[in-house]
Amino acid sequence: MPLVIHSSSTKPDTNVSLRAHLGAMVAPVDFAYTKEDEEFRHELSSWLDDNLPAFLAKHDAGIDDDDRQMAGERSQERRRAWQRLLAEGGWAAVHWPAEWGGRDATPTQRLIYTEVMAHYRTPGMFNANGIWQIGPMIIRWGSDEQKRRWIPSILHAEEHWCQGFSEPDAGNDLANLRTTAIRDGDDYVVNGQKIWISTAHLAKWGLFLLRTDPTAIARGAKHEGITAFIVDLETPGIERRPIRDIAGEEMFNEVFFTDARIPATSRLGEEGQGWIVAMGTLGHERVGIAGQVSILAADLDAMIQTARSVNPAVLDEPEIRERVARVYTQIQLAKLLGYRALSKVLKGEKNWPEVPFAKLQWSYLSQSLAELAVDMFGPLGALARGGPDAVDRGRWARLYSFQRYSTIAGGSTEVQKNIIADRAIQLPGMARLG
Ligand SMILES: Cc1cc2nc3c(=O)[nH]c(=O)nc-3n(C[C@H](O)[C@H](O)[C@H](O)COP(=O)(O)OP(=O)(O)OC[C@H]3O[C@@H](n4cnc5c(N)ncnc54)[C@H](O)[C@@H]3O)c2cc1C
Repeated sequence: MPLVIHSSSTKPDTNVSLRAHLGAMVAPVDFAYTKEDEEFRHELSSWLDDNLPAFLAKHDAGIDDDDRQMAGERSQERRRAWQRLLAEGGWAAVHWPAEWGGRDATPTQRLIYTEVMAHYRTPGMFNANGIWQIGPMIIRWGSDEQKRRWIPSILHAEEHWCQGFSEPDAGNDLANLRTTAIRDGDDYVVNGQKIWISTAHLAKWGLFLLRTDPTAIARGAKHEGITAFIVDLETPGIERRPIRDIAGEEMFNEVFFTDARIPATSRLGEEGQGWIVAMGTLGHERVGIAGQVSILAADLDAMIQTARSVNPAVLDEPEIRERVARVYTQIQLAKLLGYRALSKVLKGEKNWPEVPFAKLQWSYLSQSLAELAVDMFGPLGALARGGPDAVDRGRWARLYSFQRYSTIAGGSTEVQKNIIADRAIQLPGMARLG
């Protein structure tokens, strides 16, 4: 069915100069699902109908709250089992080439995939990082030997992977990273520190960005001299220290390198190509946000169901009704933003500035949604996990704290706004970004 929504007004437009600035933003949502897309959706839904209920029955649907706690051991085992089942059905890595166990899914099918998975509220995957970001990078940049060694292991959830980019002084300003990898014979010797590395304490492997040219920053060329490596986290000289987060979980880590020797054969791409490899990786992360909106829509439905049973009177309160309506509307708008980005991609255009807009919208929405949940459930809504009276076993109270991350990770809100101001609407008086 063709989906065409023109967001430009038909009324006479007096605000011509603003419209000129926002020219790229009035592009229509304009794409049609093909017969293959509809078959893809149908095949995936049928597979989930056949497999998901049995999986949940076997793996205890009641641990939904733990499942969202990525670092929990039980959660990891459940995620591993789920990813293996998906891989057997050919549904773990749909965007990968068929030769590596994927389905060569088109951008439209990727969106359908995330929407359907969100609608069914499927469990998380064991190697989400590996499937969405690292696997495609190895397929793109790796040697045949590297692909044979690591791709099947990522796909079939044999070993866990993490992504090691951030450092204490290199977050938004990632190119400022200073952990060095200096060539010494057949090895590189690594020294320095990473931080905020999700699930590094559970991982066997990580895709790390390291500085092979330590003079680059002083030369004013910080994007140069960065190289991507696949690092075995059990290498002597590597120490992982979990950090307790605001939700009380130990999900991310500091990772220290002290004269750790890693083989040159684990380098991904050439020396100095790390920035290009990383941008590809983060690009996958950003595209993934379109699917996250579908998860928010499913969360809103689940919250309203829960409110009906634990605090039904709240649904008659005008203030709450208005907040529900507002969040619902904003979710629909965020969805349309995703569709607009897809329309552009399908026409071979850059999905700009929809991507930073979608990131901002998603960050804001995920926090407003978690706040709404806690407010809807009354005093019980604030009870934390573990308490017998906690609503949905404390899942929403946890989300309330955890969602603080959405305005930080993957490019913080302030920096996204800078990018939009500078590059999308070219506000006067902006210092140009590098
Ligand atoms: C839950 C979670 C999981 C994570 N997992 C990983 C992971 O697996 N691997 C990994 O490598 N990293 C991970 N990160 C790190 C994440 O990528 C960084 O937190 C993010 O890039 C921001 O960097 P920072 O924390 O150093 O903040 P900074 O960049 O130091 O920013 C601090 C504050 O200053 C503001 N600021 C910075 N620069 C500007 C500017 N130019 N103009 C205006 N304001 C500015 C920011 O908006 C922010 O408010 C994770 C983070 C979180 C929260």
